[in-house]
Amino acid sequence: MKKLTGVSVSPGIVIGKHFLYQGSELQDIPRYAIGKNQVDGEWRRLLAATEEAAADVRDLHDKAVREMSKDKADIFEAHLMMLEDTEFQAQIKERLEADRENIEWIVWDISREIAAKMLSSPDPYFRERAGDVADVSRRLMHKLMGIKEFSLADLTEDAILVAHDLLPSEVLSMNKERVKGIAMDMGGRTSHTAILAKAFGIPAVLGLSSITRELNAGDILALDGGSGQVIINPTKASLLKYEDAGKRYRRNRDKLLAQAELPAETKDGHRVLLKANIELPEEAEQSLRYGAEGIGLYRSEFLFLTPGQAAEEEWQYQAYSTVLKAMGDRPVTIRTLDVGGDKVSSNVPAPSEGDKNPLLGWRAIRMCLALPDFFKTQLRAILRSSVHGKVKIMFPMISGIEEFEQALALLKEAKAECLAKKQRFAKTIEVGIMIEVPSAAMSADILARKSDFFSIGTNDLLQYTLAVDRGNERVSYLAQPFHPAVLRLLKQTIDAAHERGIKAAICGELAGAPYAAPILLGLGLDEYSMTASAIPQVKRIIRGTTLEDCRTLTEKALANSSYKQTDALVKTWMADHFPDK
Ligand code: PEP
Ligand code: MG
Repeated sequence: MKKLTGVSVSPGIVIGKHFLYQGSELQDIPRYAIGKNQVDGEWRRLLAATEEAAADVRDLHDKAVREMSKDKADIFEAHLMMLEDTEFQAQIKERLEADRENIEWIVWDISREIAAKMLSSPDPYFRERAGDVADVSRRLMHKLMGIKEFSLADLTEDAILVAHDLLPSEVLSMNKERVKGIAMDMGGRTSHTAILAKAFGIPAVLGLSSITRELNAGDILALDGGSGQVIINPTKASLLKYEDAGKRYRRNRDKLLAQAELPAETKDGHRVLLKANIELPEEAEQSLRYGAEGIGLYRSEFLFLTPGQAAEEEWQYQAYSTVLKAMGDRPVTIRTLDVGGDKVSSNVPAPSEGDKNPLLGWRAIRMCLALPDFFKTQLRAILRSSVHGKVKIMFPMISGIEEFEQALALLKEAKAECLAKKQRFAKTIEVGIMIEVPSAAMSADILARKSDFFSIGTNDLLQYTLAVDRGNERVSYLAQPFHPAVLRLLKQTIDAAHERGIKAAICGELAGAPYAAPILLGLGLDEYSMTASAIPQVKRIIRGTTLEDCRTLTEKALANSSYKQTDALVKTWMADHFPDK
């Protein structure tokens, strides 16, 4: 038996077999010069790899014909044509002879060029095909580099998924019926893989550093997502302990769920709104079960992360409408595309390309403003969906007023385009911004003049304020929400909103942390948006306290000079106010 401790990201207890996933993402593409006499050999390698890849695609095509729709089968037919395209091959041959570099590098480089050209095309058809080019070249590269392709969608047995790292797109496409838990070497509490695991209700422990190296074939795991512990080959006694804890966890969850309908109101009558964060349209309906009073953050980029999905307007419109219809007259805040950082997609321009620091690079609103047609496609889809419910639009990663004004100008153009096509949209749609870059928090008073609401993204706000990569477990101990700098930025933002008469919300993971609820209340926050399953617990804290008590606590916290003092203060306060927990 061996015990490993990581970061607890998604609660729940599971015991079972593990599945070690090696990943199929291309990491380092080798690049080296070759001699003139090696050119023929490299070319033959390409022909052999093409043949192997084509055989796989033919198999996939036949399987799709048998088991799926014609549309899906057509995709593989198109892939086959791309693979065997004589112009593509001639281009590779020409470069091979001229540059004399290894074939993997040349294929990779040419494919990137083609995909980039397609993505900047004004024709949506070509933009959509860019994802196919990426798919085909990845397949070819796998053959050239001898990487065995395995998709997590093909998991056929129940297992606890173990990986060094998982991309959000891999979590999205995995067979969720079979994945009973997730354990990963990498990843922090607010990484997008963590957020997705929580959204799917899959217990997960990330940031375990070495679990992939510790495991042997056939090892059994006991994983406790709440405490962040993973036991390899537990003894009989600890198995019993985990089974018991699992039962207690489920009982407690059911008890909290039974209170989903109660209002989020303090004992002295202060009412706040508790909403849900969602990543996929299907989550909207489930969020109601937990008592969500709306969707405070719909991370629309997850629509684009599903492999092979295109960013077409009609398809986006359908997705947004599904969410709005499910929520009825409850508000739904759709955040415009925020790819980049750890959210890289083959279906939109790859923002990490050329960025040495992707988290500080071409991400979110920066990318959208640089690709106005692409951005306006999303805006039109959101506008059109507004007739099905109560939509709000939110821009991510705004760092200053100029960006916000540019985004607003494009929204105005999108509205004009809808009107020109006689497409209807709601008369009044609130437009707000995320406050997640320190410069935005520092200039919140200026931004509030143009904004209908603020929503504080503490995941990124902590990352950028404290200089802590949110996906890196080695520095995650520094991501302290009660750091005086963070508390001051929160206060400044909320005060600026209230001075202007607009609402201040929070949609970072901190919103769903019960221990943070009293401080956030005391700071005057109006709305909390979180993973739906966290709502009942936060509501319990809110209903069990008074605003006055929370204000006193927050004043003390703001006067502290270290997060350790505030951690201790909150711990004592919680023990006094909620002695049973
Ligand atoms: C945040 O940064 O807090 C946030 C809610 O956005 P995301 O986690 O998607 O970056
Ligand atoms: Mg963010």
